[in-house]
Amino acid sequence: MSTVPKSAVPKSAPPRSADPSASAILPTYARAPVAFERGEGSWLVTAEGERYLDFGAGIAVNSLGHGHPHLVGALTAQAAKLWHTSNLFGQPDGERLARRLADASFADLVFFCNSGAEALEAAIKTTRKYHAAGGHPERYRIVTFEGAFHGRTLATIAAGGQKKYLDGFGPKVDGFDQVPFGDLKALEAAIGPETAGILIEPIQGEGGLRATPPGFLRALRALCDRHGLLLVLDEVQTGVGRTGRLFAHEREGIVPDVMALAKGLGGGFPVGACLATREAARGMTAGVHGTTFGGNPLAMAVANAVLDVVLADGFVEGVARKGALLAQRLAELKDTHPRVIEEVRGEGLLAGLKLRPPVADFAAAARDARLVVIPAGDNVARLLPPLTVSEDELAEGVRRLDAACRAIEAALPAGAAA
Ligand SMILES: *Cc1c(COP(=O)(O)O)cnc(C)c1O
Repeated sequence: MSTVPKSAVPKSAPPRSADPSASAILPTYARAPVAFERGEGSWLVTAEGERYLDFGAGIAVNSLGHGHPHLVGALTAQAAKLWHTSNLFGQPDGERLARRLADASFADLVFFCNSGAEALEAAIKTTRKYHAAGGHPERYRIVTFEGAFHGRTLATIAAGGQKKYLDGFGPKVDGFDQVPFGDLKALEAAIGPETAGILIEPIQGEGGLRATPPGFLRALRALCDRHGLLLVLDEVQTGVGRTGRLFAHEREGIVPDVMALAKGLGGGFPVGACLATREAARGMTAGVHGTTFGGNPLAMAVANAVLDVVLADGFVEGVARKGALLAQRLAELKDTHPRVIEEVRGEGLLAGLKLRPPVADFAAAARDARLVVIPAGDNVARLLPPLTVSEDELAEGVRRLDAACRAIEAALPAGAAA
């Protein structure tokens, strides 16, 4: 018995494209001409069996590498039990994850969602609602920084303030005032009676691994306290161990009021989180915000499994140790290839090379050497291996970076100045 209504079956579908091999995916990404079929730890493997060393980790997402047995076990066990019930019911694994995140951070409360941009949306709404709940709905503006990246929703492109992401999408969402990165004077001048908070990445990820100057986060904390603002950190890329600390802001011994997480939290399963103090979240009561999929049992099971590994004794310290080793090797590489590498940046396993030749050329040369790196702004190639990468794999990655540098140099005009 057919259940397909006749009207749903087209009699003769018109040809959609002159080229039957043309992609039906909306072309919003310039994709590298390679696809992977499976992954094993720090390695990606194509259908043809070619092995690439993965220093991209899906843009700092696959924090425990590919096919980690503890994550595979958690996901498959949960897949056999329960996938989704909605937030209209209790979520025991979500309760547990929220408690663990709160215990490991400044936060009292956690909102779960599915991506970084959604975590930022929740953070922005929490910040505005905090002032509204305190009787000051006019305080809704948030100061952000040039070069920032907070996601691709309408509010988060306004927060990021980058022309290339705003162009053509109509009026920019109101309520974001942007100042130069690291400029305390400009920041103070931007604070007015409508300011609600300050939003910043402790290290700009997409912006090219630009770190806040030493003491800057402490200065922001003091400014927020003085003006009654919320300090909102975007640790979507820097969080969950990536910089050799559980959260990058720990470097300055400060705490934010609100913090967005995503990327590494799910180890490859989509999950985001907005963490806040009870005070900062005072406006976020029943019904004011929501999500259908956020905090679903699959995401909660996997993120709890990620924390089992990342919160284990010595794991984050191990990331710091491997990060220091990588930084040292990269400094040597820069000395060997001054015509290619201008500067080594980053912290922990959020490392990067500021390049002289175009980063796209370097990424292609690295790919030829079977190494995945991730281009960022400011002509930087990001090196983001899984946090579980071995010291041997780090050394192998640096050998492949050296090969990429040599290939680039061979193509430079002879005698070109460093
Ligand atoms: C990736 C990223 C986002 C956006 O995350 P999505 O999951 O792509 O929405 C926001 N902020 C920072 C710092 C990021 O690196």
